[in-house]
Amino acid sequence: MALRKHLWKPILNYRHSVPKRYETISGWESLSSAELERRTTRRLQSLLDHAYENVPYYRETFEEQPKATEFEELPLLEKADLQNEFERLKSDDLSAREWKTNATSGSTGQPTEFVQDGHYLSMREGLKLVFDEWGGRTLSDPKVKVWGSQDDLFGEKSVKSKAREWLRNITWINAYSMSEDDFRDAVQTINSEQPATIHAYVEAITNVAAFIEENDLAVYSPSSVMTTAGTLRPEMRAQIERVFDCPVHNRYGSREFGTVASECRYGTGLHYCPLIHYIEILDPDTLEPVEPGEPGEIVITLLSNYSMPLIRYRIGDVAAFHTGDCDCRCNWPMIANVRGRVTDHFVTPDGTLVYPGALRKTLYHYEWINRFQIHQTSTDTIVFRLVVSRDDPPQSALEEIISQTERIMGEEVAVDFEFPSAIQRSDSGKYRYTISDVSS
Ligand SMILES: [Zn+2]
Repeated sequence: MALRKHLWKPILNYRHSVPKRYETISGWESLSSAELERRTTRRLQSLLDHAYENVPYYRETFEEQPKATEFEELPLLEKADLQNEFERLKSDDLSAREWKTNATSGSTGQPTEFVQDGHYLSMREGLKLVFDEWGGRTLSDPKVKVWGSQDDLFGEKSVKSKAREWLRNITWINAYSMSEDDFRDAVQTINSEQPATIHAYVEAITNVAAFIEENDLAVYSPSSVMTTAGTLRPEMRAQIERVFDCPVHNRYGSREFGTVASECRYGTGLHYCPLIHYIEILDPDTLEPVEPGEPGEIVITLLSNYSMPLIRYRIGDVAAFHTGDCDCRCNWPMIANVRGRVTDHFVTPDGTLVYPGALRKTLYHYEWINRFQIHQTSTDTIVFRLVVSRDDPPQSALEEIISQTERIMGEEVAVDFEFPSAIQRSDSGKYRYTISDVSS
C-alpha cells in the first residue's frame, strides 16, 4: 500500500497533471457566487471564441462572432448533429492537442462518438477526486466500484488499465452479475477491501443492499456510498443508508461529460462546478429556460474540452435547479430531482409511464437467471434477454413472467424471450438492465 501512495502522485502528474487539476478545482470550492459567475462568463466566451475561430461546424452555425452574454440565443446541439457532423465538429488545431475518441454505445442504432483532449481528461479526473473527497475518500484510499464490466470502460483489460486501477486503489464488482453467488462475492469484496467509499450504479447497489438485508449478512460500513447512472428513489436511498450505515451521495454524469454533479455530505442537491460544466435547464417543448425549481431538460456546455466543443448539448436527461442554499461552504450551484432519460421508463400502449422496477420484479427469485436486460422495442413489445444457467428455463416460470408483464403493461403487449450467452456491451455511464425505445 505504501508503494502505491508513493507512486500515485508522480505517475498521475506525469500523465495528465491530475493532482494539479484537483488542487485548482478544490480552490474553486471557496469562490463566491459572484466570482464564479464572472469566471464562468469569461470561460464561456473563450470557448465560443475558440469554436468560432477553429471549428468548422460552429463557424457556419453561429453566423457571427458569438457573445457569452447572448448565449441562450445560440443553437442547441443534438445527438444527431454529433453523429452527422463529427468531422466538422473537430477543432482545426486538433493535431496540436493530445486527444482521443470516446463513444456512447447507445442501446440501439449507431454509437455516438466524440473527441476529448488531455486537458479535459485531467479535469475530469481532478473533479472526480474532489467529489470523492466529499464522500470521505482522499487521494488513493480504497474504493469499490459496482459498475459495468471493466471491458466496457477501458475497451479491454489491458495491463495498463489494470495497473491504473491498482494505482488508484479501485476494486471492481461487475454490476451486471446478478446471481446469488455474485452477490455473496460482492459482499466479501466489500468486507475485505474496506473501502472509504463505494461508487455504484443505483440499481446494482440497491440489489446488493436488499440481498444483504434479506440474508442478514454483516457488511463493512464505508464513509459513503456514491450512486450514479439511474434514478435514486427515496426508498432506495433509505435502504442503502440503512444497510451500509453511511450517507448516500447521489451523482450525475455521462460518458460525454464525465461526472457532472454530486451531493455533498448535506445532501441538499447535486452541486456542479460551473467553471467546468455550464448547465441550462430548458422546457422540452418551448426550449426556453424553466423557472428555478421547475423540472426540464438538462442542456450542458463543456468548458474544459476544446478538441470537439460540445456547446448547448441536449443530453436527454431531466432535472431542476435547486433554489435553496447548502450548509457546506461550497458555492457551486445545484441541480435536483435528476432523472434518467425518459426512455428509461416503459410506456404502456395507452401512454402510462411504468417505472422499470415493476418489470424487473417479475424476474426476482429465479436463481437460474444470472443476468438480464428488459427491452421495450416498441409500444407493444417487451423483450426479456436472459442469461441463464440451465438449458431449459422452466416453461411455467416463463408463463408467469408473461402474465405479470401483461398485468403491468396491458394484455395487448407481446412478450418475447431471448437467451443470449451474455448481455451485449453497454454504455458505462447509464443503467442498462432496462432499455426503452419508446418515449412518453
Ligand atoms: Zn453542499
